[in-house]
Amino acid sequence: MLRKELSVHTYNDLLNHFPFRHVDKTQVDTIASLTMQNEYAYVAGILLSLDMMGEGRSKRLVAKLKDNTGVIELVWFQGINYVQKAMYVGQQYLLFGKLGFFMGTPQIAHPEIENFSPQKMAGKPSLEPIYPCTEKLKARGINGSNFGKFTAELFTRINPKDLPESLPQNLIEQYKLMPRYEAYRQIHFPSSEKNYELALRRLKFDELFFAQLRMNLVKLQRHRFSRGNIFDKVGTFFNDFYSNHLPFTLTNAQKRVLKEIRKDTGSGRQMNRLLQGDVGSGKTMVALLCMLIAADNNFQSVLMAPTEILAQQHLLSITEYLKDMPVNVQLLTGSVKAKARKKILADAEDGTLNILIGTHAVIEDKVKFKNLGFAVIDEQHKFGVAQRAQLRDKNIIPPHILVMTATPIPRTLALTAYGDLDYSVMDELPPGRKPILTTHRNESARPQVMSFIKEEIDLGRQAYIVYPLIEESSAMDYENLMKGYEEVKSFFPEPKFWISMVHGKQPSVQKEANMQRFVKGDTNIMVSTTVIEVGVNVPNASVMVIESAEKFGLSQLHQLRGRVGRGADKSYCVLLTGNKLSNDARERMKIMVATNDGFAIAEKDLEIRGPGEIEGTKQSGALNFMLASLVNDKAMLEVAKITVENLLNTDPDIMLQENEPVKNFLVSQKGKTKWSKIA
Ligand code: ADP
Ligand code: MG
Repeated sequence: MLRKELSVHTYNDLLNHFPFRHVDKTQVDTIASLTMQNEYAYVAGILLSLDMMGEGRSKRLVAKLKDNTGVIELVWFQGINYVQKAMYVGQQYLLFGKLGFFMGTPQIAHPEIENFSPQKMAGKPSLEPIYPCTEKLKARGINGSNFGKFTAELFTRINPKDLPESLPQNLIEQYKLMPRYEAYRQIHFPSSEKNYELALRRLKFDELFFAQLRMNLVKLQRHRFSRGNIFDKVGTFFNDFYSNHLPFTLTNAQKRVLKEIRKDTGSGRQMNRLLQGDVGSGKTMVALLCMLIAADNNFQSVLMAPTEILAQQHLLSITEYLKDMPVNVQLLTGSVKAKARKKILADAEDGTLNILIGTHAVIEDKVKFKNLGFAVIDEQHKFGVAQRAQLRDKNIIPPHILVMTATPIPRTLALTAYGDLDYSVMDELPPGRKPILTTHRNESARPQVMSFIKEEIDLGRQAYIVYPLIEESSAMDYENLMKGYEEVKSFFPEPKFWISMVHGKQPSVQKEANMQRFVKGDTNIMVSTTVIEVGVNVPNASVMVIESAEKFGLSQLHQLRGRVGRGADKSYCVLLTGNKLSNDARERMKIMVATNDGFAIAEKDLEIRGPGEIEGTKQSGALNFMLASLVNDKAMLEVAKITVENLLNTDPDIMLQENEPVKNFLVSQKGKTKWSKIA
């Protein structure tokens, strides 16, 4: 039963099934003193009545309990038979549960019940643990309060040897940590508030420390044992481009990242680097410069984009940058015709091809390279682990891999979710960027918003209007999109205005065609779902209207907004929402209006939504902390990170006597971890 309901399989699981709070059960509440402020109620009294009420689905058992000050109501919707047999009118009971109020009367649904006696009260520990529990277990008489008896029983059978120390003594002293065995005892059965806090601190530290340690060990392993192609020279491709073709000066961030990559690619080990840069920070140029260095060292490169349209845009901008230079750049996507494809494949195989740009078509088995040395993956979260592995297999010595993403991830998340990748950040935009003016408007302001779009179109600009698509298959969402499209059409009639519409249900040919019309400037407005989210570049577009903006998460809103502000003198983002907003939604709109900084937004997103929901980290499994929180324990995470780095710097193989506890703990955990490698 415990196994199925709570996945508690072993003693270890039981120890790690932590109470979510403790209550002081030496003191009961008087019923009259209960108010809405009390989250829980703990009362003692005589059972006055016990009656079945209602029929069918609203059938319930209702009881009244009285103490010297008042009456409280108790309700059961499940497990009714059990309670009916177990409780007697006229008996004294102790009750504990979540407090509610119904028409002014205090009420507990599904309370935990104990028989009351004065002796019993005297024998209670002051802080009793309350555990997470399921309804099914409750129906069997196991509840959040008495669950502790299993854990208590376990502690009578084990001793400190069964929970050996996992950290070196010097760390325990340095950080004043509670010993591990003691911490487990105290987190379940604390002897005081203070001890509970210390226990929690110790066990959180363990979680963060070992999470970091595992990541760093993977990285260290890779650094040591993976062989990589060596790019030891900068030659004419790079130098010619840098001095004669580069249309701007690099930002300091671009220079810094280039240096970091140069260091990796010259080191003789394979690079696996994540490059984060806000929308528009110039990641493509960094990738191009790297690919030129690869060419200087007689290596080929690939640049992979998640969609055809993005791949095409990359081809356009890169061939434009490289015009008049003898670099062979080709595009390979699903829609390249057989004859052209044959030539591309031949060029890739005999080495005449320097740079291959495309969708995942570039990593299909049929595509063989003479000497693939460098691979760039743009907008990484659209690619899976399998594709990255496929890429690695493209050469005897695997190519260096640069993963680029414009979805900023907060540092704490990056450390934990991507800790086994090397990590670069471009936190600087090229000079001269025009800020995007963001406003939040209600539904009722729609006519004004439409007139505003008209003004911009009259100035020769283009506009996006984006509708949420929460579920790919949701008929409602499509209905809204279509309604919206009709409405936009009535504001902007043909032939004075032209509108493109793009959504996921269109055949890809049609989608591409509609997209292209907008990219070329043949249409004034793009009505779409979020399919345009990633990477599309239409510098002439100056307005982004986001419909039902409250339905989007922060990072998605930021991505969408990044589609404008790429050329026009001034760009605008309008967040349209209903009149009634949840507090969360209101907060999100406020943040969007207040800042254009993707990293600041990502931090807020983490605070509001929690780590599990952040794009690109969901599947990593790296965030399954039981106690630590990436939002509240940032400082501790930093300490854990530094501690791990220090430890591995002096003792990379964890061989020193003093670090034996760490080694033993790691060994004992082998095979138990839920960690999945993501790169
Ligand atoms: P992202 O990081 O979002 O992929 P891009 O690589 O598409 O950004 O670059 C956005 C725009 O900024 C492009 O038009 C590019 O030519 C331009 N750009 C890149 N680096 C610089 C720079 N150092 N100075 C000026 N413009 C730049
Ligand atoms: Mg890009």
